[in-house]
Amino acid sequence: MAESVELPGRLAILPFRNKVLLPGAFIRIRCTSQSSVKLVEQELWQREEKGLIGILPVQDAAETTSMDSMLSQGVGSESGERSSNVQVSTSDAHKVDGKNPSEVIHWHNRGVAARALHLSRGVEKPSGRVTYIVVLEGLCRFNIEELNTRGPYCTAKISPLEMTKSEMEQVEQDPDFVTLSRQFKAIAMELISILEQKQKTGGRIKVLLETLPFHKLADIFVASFEISFEEQLCMLDSVDPKVRLSKATELVDRHLQSIRVAEKITQKVEGQLSKSQKEYLLRQQMRAIKEELGDNDDDEDDLASLERKMQNAGMPSNIWKHAQRELRRLKKMQPQQPGYNSSRVYLDLLADLPWQKASEEQELDLKAAKDHLDCDHYGLVKIKQRIIEYLAVRKLKPDARGPVLCFVGPPGVGKTSLASSIAAALGRKFIRISLGGVKDEADIRGHRRTYIGSMPGRLIDGLKRVGVCNPVMLLDEIDKTGSDVRGDPASALLEVLDPEQNKSFNDHYLNVPFDLSKVIFVATANRMQPIPPPLLDRMEVIELPGYTAEEKLRIAMQHLIPRVLDQHGLSSAFLQIPEDMVKLVIQRYTREAGVRNLERNLAALARAAAVRVAEREQAVSVSKDVHKITSPLLDNRLAEGAEMEMEVIPMVVNNHEISNAFRIASPLVVDEAMLEKILGPPRFDDQEAADRVATPGVSVGLVWTAFGGEVQFVEATSVVGNGELRLTGQLGDVIKESAQIALTWVRARVEDLKLAAAEETDLLQGKDIHIHFPAGAVPKDGPSAGVTLVTALVSLFSQKNVRADTAMTGEMTLRGLVLPVGGVKDKVLAAHRYGIKRVILPERNLKDLVEVPADVLSSLEILVAKRMEDVLEHAFDGGCPWRQHQHSKL
Ligand code: ADP
Repeated sequence: MAESVELPGRLAILPFRNKVLLPGAFIRIRCTSQSSVKLVEQELWQREEKGLIGILPVQDAAETTSMDSMLSQGVGSESGERSSNVQVSTSDAHKVDGKNPSEVIHWHNRGVAARALHLSRGVEKPSGRVTYIVVLEGLCRFNIEELNTRGPYCTAKISPLEMTKSEMEQVEQDPDFVTLSRQFKAIAMELISILEQKQKTGGRIKVLLETLPFHKLADIFVASFEISFEEQLCMLDSVDPKVRLSKATELVDRHLQSIRVAEKITQKVEGQLSKSQKEYLLRQQMRAIKEELGDNDDDEDDLASLERKMQNAGMPSNIWKHAQRELRRLKKMQPQQPGYNSSRVYLDLLADLPWQKASEEQELDLKAAKDHLDCDHYGLVKIKQRIIEYLAVRKLKPDARGPVLCFVGPPGVGKTSLASSIAAALGRKFIRISLGGVKDEADIRGHRRTYIGSMPGRLIDGLKRVGVCNPVMLLDEIDKTGSDVRGDPASALLEVLDPEQNKSFNDHYLNVPFDLSKVIFVATANRMQPIPPPLLDRMEVIELPGYTAEEKLRIAMQHLIPRVLDQHGLSSAFLQIPEDMVKLVIQRYTREAGVRNLERNLAALARAAAVRVAEREQAVSVSKDVHKITSPLLDNRLAEGAEMEMEVIPMVVNNHEISNAFRIASPLVVDEAMLEKILGPPRFDDQEAADRVATPGVSVGLVWTAFGGEVQFVEATSVVGNGELRLTGQLGDVIKESAQIALTWVRARVEDLKLAAAEETDLLQGKDIHIHFPAGAVPKDGPSAGVTLVTALVSLFSQKNVRADTAMTGEMTLRGLVLPVGGVKDKVLAAHRYGIKRVILPERNLKDLVEVPADVLSSLEILVAKRMEDVLEHAFDGGCPWRQHQHSKL
C-alpha cells in the first residue's frame, strides 16, 4: 500500500453502482459497458505507466430521495462483513450510458482514487465485444470539484481529502485520537483473535495492525465487513481521522457482537443437535437390540395403531374428545416416563370397549328358543316357561325394561347353564361376572386412576372381554357380596340394575359414562335371604329347588353322560354307564340338590376309561408301523402275536375315531366293582340314619342350607353335672334359643311325658345336658330345629329310640305349638335322598307339598303335626310316651 499518493487535478471516473471502494481495499471489476471499456482502454490498458482512476459511488434514482439527506450529512450506522479484500463485481457504468445521469442516478461527491494492480482483456463471442477485468486497489479519498459526464467516459476535476504528513502527525498527538486509537486497537485485536480461532487467517491482519497507522487500518477493517451502502458512504465521508476511528470502532464492535451472538446460537444449536443426535443414536441401537431379540414393537407404530384402534372404537363424541386429549398427553411422554404405561393401558381400554359394537340380534324364534332350552335342560318346566315368557316380551318390545331374572337355588341345579341358554336363544354373547366374595365397591366400580395399580371394575372389564355392548351378563352369586369399610358393592349393583341409571354407568377408572342399558342382566344366588332388599326388589326371583333322584337320573342319562363322554373324546361305543350304575352313583356317591358332583363322578369314570383307550391307542400305533419298520424289537413283539389282530386300524386322528376303531372290541361297561375301584368305597348309604339313631337321644331333622335341603341329626346326652345346657356344632343364636325352649318345654312336661320317676321333679338334678349338631365344622342357624331338639331330649330322658325312618322339621313355641317353616320342598327332597320314609311337617306347611314331585311324595309318608305332642306321637315307635300314659289310664 502506498504511503502517500500524489493525486492529479483531474481523474477519469469509473462510477461504482451502489458500492463504495474504501482506501486500502481491493476490488475486481468486470467492465462491459461501452464507457467503462473505453475508460479502461484509454486510461489503463494502452498506457505504459498505469495511471490512477477515480472510483465514484453512484446510486439509483429510486433510492436517492430517501438517501439524500443521509448522504449529505455523511452519517450511517449499520455494519456488515466482507470476507475478501478483492471483490468481484460488475461495473454498472454502462447503465448510465445514453441517459441524463443527473436524472437517473445520484453521483456522490467524494470518491477514492484507485490503482490498477491487474488487467485482463477478453472478447465475448460471438458478438466480438471487448470486456476487461480490472483489479483495483483503493488509495485515498478525493473530493469532486467538477464532474464532466460528456465524452466517452466521465472525468472530474478533483481535490485531495487526505491529510498531509505534518497534519497527521499533529493529529496523532491529540489525546482524543490516542484514546480512540487504543480503543480501536483493543477491539480490533479481539476481533482478530476470534477470527484466528475460526479461520486461522488472523496472522496477516495482525501484522497490518502492528505496521499501519490506525486511520488507515480503520478503512481496511471496515472494508472487510459486509456493511450497507449507506454505512460505506458514511465511512467514505469520514475524512477526519478521529471521526473515522470512532466510526470504525463502533462498526468493529458491532461486528464483534454479531459474531459472538452467532457463535452462541451456533453453540446452542450444536448442543441441541448433539443431544438429539445422541438420542437418535441410542434409539437406533435400542431398535437394533429389540430386533435382535425379536421384540420389535416400535413405540411410534404402536401409538399410531392405538390411535387407529381408537378411531374405530365408535366412541361418542364427548368421549372421543377426552380420549384424544389423553392421547396427545401420551404422545408427549417418553415411554420410560412414569405414568406412560398407565395412560397407555387406559387408552387401550377406551379403544377396546364396545361403545357401539353389538352382536346382531336375530329375529327371535320362540319355538326354537323353547327347543333349545328343552334340549339343554331336563325338567324345569315352570322355569323354562317363565324364560319363554320373558323372551316373548323382549320379542314384542325389544327395548322393554323387563325385570332382571334372578335364579335362586343350590349349586349345580343349572342356573348358569339356563342363563347361557337365554343368551344362545337371543343370539347374544354371554359373559359371567363372578360376584362371590366381592366386598369392595371398587370391584364393581373400579379404582380411580390416581391409585397405583388401579383397574376398571368387573363389569367394564367383562364388557371389554366380551367385546359387544349387548351381551347377556350373568351376575353370578349375587348373594355372596358383602359390605365392609371399603364400601357396599350392592349399592353399585343397584345402579347397574336400574334401567334409569345404567344408561350412564360411571366406572371410577374409566371416568366417563358407559351405557349399560343394552346389556341383559341375569343374576344367580344360592339363597335369597342375604340379598339386600332394594337389590332383590329390582329382580324377579325364579327358584330352582334341586332335583329328585329320578330327575337326576334322567339328567345324567340324557345330558351329563353324552356331554362327559364328548368332553373326554369318548363315545358310547367305548364306555357305557348303565342306568343302574348311575342310580348307584346318585345314591352312594352324591347327596346333593344339584348335579354337579354327579357330573364330577361321571367324569371320573370317563377319565379312567380314557386312560384305557389311550393305552390301547399306543398298541395300535405300533402294530400300524409293521409294514415299514422291521426291527428285531418289533419282530419280537409281533411274534408274541398280541397286537396282530388290530393291525388294520387306520391312523387315528381324533378320539371319536379311536373309539370307533375299538367298536370291534366290546365297549367298557361300568359295573359295581368298577365303580368302587374308580370312585372309591360308597360315601353314603341308606343305613346311615338307622345306624345313627340306634341309641336314645338322637333325632333326625331336616334343615335348609345354601346347598339345598339337608338331613341334620341332633344328638343329646346327659352327664353328671349341675343342670347346665351345653350346645356345640357352630350354632347360631336362634338355634341356641330353640334349644333353651326345647329343654324348658320338656322339663315342664316331665310328668305328662313320664320322663322321670315320681319323686324326681327336676330332670336336670345332678346332670348336665349336652346337645351336639354334627357335622361340627359347619355353621348352622335357624328356628326349624325346634321339634327335632325336643324329640332328641324326650328320647334321651325316656331312653327310647326315635324311629330311624322318620325325619322332622318345624319351629316350636314355648307352649308347644308347631309353626310352619321354609324350604319344605328342598327338605322333603333331602329326606327322599337319604332314604327316609316318613316326614313330619307342621300342619301349615302342607300347602307347600304341591311343589314336591309326585313320585317323591308317593314314596314318602307325610305326617302332620299341629302341636309338639303330635310330633312325638309320630316320632316314636308305639306313639308318644304321654299318649301311652293317657292310654294306660283309660
Ligand atoms: P349352577 O349355576 O346352578 O351352580 P350349573 O348351571 O353350572 O349350576 O350346572 C351344573 C351342571 O349341571 C351343568 O353342566 C349343567 O348343564 C348341568 N345341569 C343342571 N341342571 C340340568 C338340567 N336340568 N338338565 C341338564 N343339565 C343340567
